[in-house]
Amino acid sequence: MLFSKIIGQEDIKKLLRHSVQEDRISHAQLFLGSEGSGSLALALAYAQYLYCKNRLQDESCGVCPSCQKIGKMAHPDLHFVFPIYLSKDTRTSDNLIGEFREALLADPYLTLQDWFGSIGADNKQPAIAVDESASILRKLSLTTFEGGYKTMIIWLPEKMQPPAANKLLKILEEPPDRTLFILVTENEDQILRTIVSRTQMISIRKIPDEVLCNYLHAHHGLSAEEAIKIAFLADGSYSTAKRILGENQSAGLYLKLFQQWMRACLKFDAVKVTEVVEDMAPLKREKHKEFIRYALGILRECLVMNYGNSSLVRLQGEELEFVKKFARFIHSDNCERFISELDKASASIERNAAPKMLFMDLSFRANELLNIPIPA
Ligand SMILES: [Zn+2]
Repeated sequence: MLFSKIIGQEDIKKLLRHSVQEDRISHAQLFLGSEGSGSLALALAYAQYLYCKNRLQDESCGVCPSCQKIGKMAHPDLHFVFPIYLSKDTRTSDNLIGEFREALLADPYLTLQDWFGSIGADNKQPAIAVDESASILRKLSLTTFEGGYKTMIIWLPEKMQPPAANKLLKILEEPPDRTLFILVTENEDQILRTIVSRTQMISIRKIPDEVLCNYLHAHHGLSAEEAIKIAFLADGSYSTAKRILGENQSAGLYLKLFQQWMRACLKFDAVKVTEVVEDMAPLKREKHKEFIRYALGILRECLVMNYGNSSLVRLQGEELEFVKKFARFIHSDNCERFISELDKASASIERNAAPKMLFMDLSFRANELLNIPIPA
């Protein structure tokens, strides 16, 4: 990972480079940054810079054997600890290192949700268990590959179970020589105080709107207006920006599903309703929530069309055409309940409700609501 691949954060990059240039690397550092700020990517770039054999002033060379190995997350002195789902066969990060490598190489702005999604563990509890401590100790006892630093990147130490955290504390109290711990956290207040006090904190800020906007414009082919809008909604998180971009791409699919669903619900065509529900059920939980958000957005636009200033309707093309026709079914006598039913559904999805039952139930409600006559 090159520093130049990370969006913004120039002050942090400079600080990290200085610590290497001046050989003043504190042995335990706490990178504190919210999701999507790039803190894990910064840890990788930092490690690459540290190990690079041909360091330039502001950047690692990117081509020496060390850079190549770190670029593939395969450097023998660089170790990773990260949250996993615990099972009989999965006790430490090592059990899933291949999957983690693949996910992080594909997206250095990896979020916990995306990581768990990629290993099909959406609904499982992320944890770093006590077994990890023995594994950390074993790795630290290995001789280093080239006599330099050993680096242990611990992603989301707030997910450490208490016995694991206590053991980590012991290790940090008596750190082996030339060992660098980088704890990459989003919630410093969920980490043992005694661990935090043993580390040097590096606070990584959210990406400023302007920086994120320029990046989206240059790298995602967005118009200046679109980039401004998404950067604003993303609130300093590149991960959120990408999620919104993905949602925009999914909008076409959601429109089709929503149209079919509402048509089927209006007259309660049981065969068609079942078809739509069967189409929706296998989607991931996140997609269900996105779809509900999409439906809520359409309802809002219907209300604006009916009761507000229709020039404020934000839709275009097919969506606008659909809302023009659908708006007459949404009015003062059903809109509040409709919105509340969708909100409730979203909350149930969050609590792992069975999707088929949930969408079937919601279809009955929608049928009832769509058939409430427009108030005179
Ligand atoms: Zn290099």
